[in-house]
Amino acid sequence: MIIAVDGPAASGKGTLARALAKHYRLPHLDTGLLYRAVGLNVLRQELNPEIEADGFAACDFDDSILGDPALRSDEIGKIASVVSVHPLVRTALLHRQRRFANQPGGAVLDGRDIGTVIAPNADAKLFIKATPQIRAKRRHAELRTQGSTVSLDKVLADIRARDLRDIGRAAAPLVMADDANLLDTSFLSIESAVQRAIELVEARVRAKTS
Ligand code: C5P
Repeated sequence: MIIAVDGPAASGKGTLARALAKHYRLPHLDTGLLYRAVGLNVLRQELNPEIEADGFAACDFDDSILGDPALRSDEIGKIASVVSVHPLVRTALLHRQRRFANQPGGAVLDGRDIGTVIAPNADAKLFIKATPQIRAKRRHAELRTQGSTVSLDKVLADIRARDLRDIGRAAAPLVMADDANLLDTSFLSIESAVQRAIELVEARVRAKTS
């Protein structure tokens, strides 16, 4: 079974994708990490993320980079969203993601274009959303536990800028697939959101097999 989980930054999609992977005992890929790896390479090699050829040159990386804690910073998230607009970068990362999705037994992938581009034939597709204010509050709380003193307003402005770039780009923009189920986590606890996500996947699987 292939499960696609898409949504904007800090919507809760990563938490839900991990929970679904655990529930169904499937391997999980956080595809944002691949774009973050490109962003980290761009930074380390002093390349320009706005230039497509520079982004493409940074796509050649070993899987070992995916465990680097430096990938998790907001700075790298921002560079990732800049390099991810380039079609050459998206194509360079496409096969890796498709291979993961189509492995025997299936997989859970989360990102922005899983249900629309990477795995259009996924058995279940969830699109996770939450208001920008709530996403900013979650992200702000997470950054504070990491010792950051960044203001809530700055986090909200970054989230809005990232949304605009992800939704507005021409190549594989952030958009809900026609056959995806929407899950708004704004006012749900993690437990309730996980339970709802499992119910939605179950309903899709039942509909497919009946
Ligand atoms: O999900 P995460 O915040 O780690 O992703 C970082 C950036 O990578 C996103 O803002 C987005 O621009 C890009 N991305 C993408 N397609 C994906 C996953 C991430 O364009 N499937």
